[in-house]
Amino acid sequence: MLNEEFQKIPSSYLFSDIAKKVGKYQETHPDQQVLRLGIGDVTLPLAPAVVAALHEAVDEQASSETFAGYGPEQGYGFLREAIAEGEYGVIGVSVDPDEIFVGDGAKSDTGNIQELFSVDASVAVADPVYPVYVDSNAMAGRLGEYRDGTWSNLTYLSCTEANGYKPPFPSEHVDLIYLCYPNNPTGTTLTRSELEGWVDYARHNGSIILFDAAYRAFITDDSIPRSIYEIDGAREVALEFGSFSKTAGFTGLRCSWTVVPKELQVEGVSLHAMWNRRQSTKFNGTPYVVQKAATAIYTPEGRVQVQEAIDYYLRNAALIRDALLGSGIEAVGGDNSPYVWFKCPGGMDSWEFFDYLLNNAQIVGTPGVGFGPAGEGQFRLSAFGSFETTSEAVRRLQALLPTLKG
Ligand SMILES: *Cc1c(COP(=O)(O)O)cnc(C)c1O
Repeated sequence: MLNEEFQKIPSSYLFSDIAKKVGKYQETHPDQQVLRLGIGDVTLPLAPAVVAALHEAVDEQASSETFAGYGPEQGYGFLREAIAEGEYGVIGVSVDPDEIFVGDGAKSDTGNIQELFSVDASVAVADPVYPVYVDSNAMAGRLGEYRDGTWSNLTYLSCTEANGYKPPFPSEHVDLIYLCYPNNPTGTTLTRSELEGWVDYARHNGSIILFDAAYRAFITDDSIPRSIYEIDGAREVALEFGSFSKTAGFTGLRCSWTVVPKELQVEGVSLHAMWNRRQSTKFNGTPYVVQKAATAIYTPEGRVQVQEAIDYYLRNAALIRDALLGSGIEAVGGDNSPYVWFKCPGGMDSWEFFDYLLNNAQIVGTPGVGFGPAGEGQFRLSAFGSFETTSEAVRRLQALLPTLKG
């Protein structure tokens, strides 16, 4: 009676294991200040322009003249137009508002999109990876058996120190390729020519790219593509996911978008029509007040305020990256991304280094192995803490790491 695929999925204990270890440490060391650089959640409050838009939208709900009930399943036109211009028009990319579907999070959107594909569709992910892509396909029964930390029917594109943490092309045909850039967890980006390589690959091999751009707002280097649609031919092979979570602190409010180009056809069928059918059936829209709030990030004040928050996190990221590099650790990420990724010093594995950092510097990070087999021996630090916490953590890292090199 039950979907047996769920039984195969290993329980993800990563964040609860971290919480347990930290809780225990604090119990036995109540006088120590523990610094949390493990978080994947933002910490700054919403921008004033967003808060004002929320208040206004709440007031509209209080009067019968302006009350909004069920909205269009695809999202309100005002937000789809704002995204089309504010995310794509500004970088010279043409995306029609009709190709944009407003969602309640890139987690749900990237988790749900696999419903459009057959249970036999083959899947590739970069390893390490945001676990949602893997687990959503596992639940659908697409990944075979889970043994020794890997799925038998999943193609892992291992990102290691040796390849600069960039995914290699699959060596066998795959139907679906999940790419996330800037990347969580490695903080790496793809250059224009690397992304062109992926679009070419997909076009020649009949693959579909599912491109997660949740961290695009952190790109400061204009030579790095902010959207896969900056690449010629991508509209025929790629879907793109965006989120207001990391861009504008909407992790609690919940708002996202998916671009499904009208010309994207698989076996002569329009994915746009399929996703529209799926959303109309299973989704009744992101709350009106939230869509109003999201639209406010594209106003002149909203833009400036949201950028200030991004810059704040990027300053933290630069501090972390520079502290690691300065201690001789070849960290990646942290320049166009809120995450810094590196090989654990002293030959430690991910959890050994987690314990070492907690015990010797009272810093909490994220063990890389929690993101996939290629993450073993690697570690992630996040820039989403406060500037004060980050600065103190950096002081401690600078004192500790030189003792550990190699
Ligand atoms: C945080 C994150 C998202 C955003 O998820 P929401 O559901 O929009 O909050 C999407 N993809 C990746 C890789 C993320 O790390």
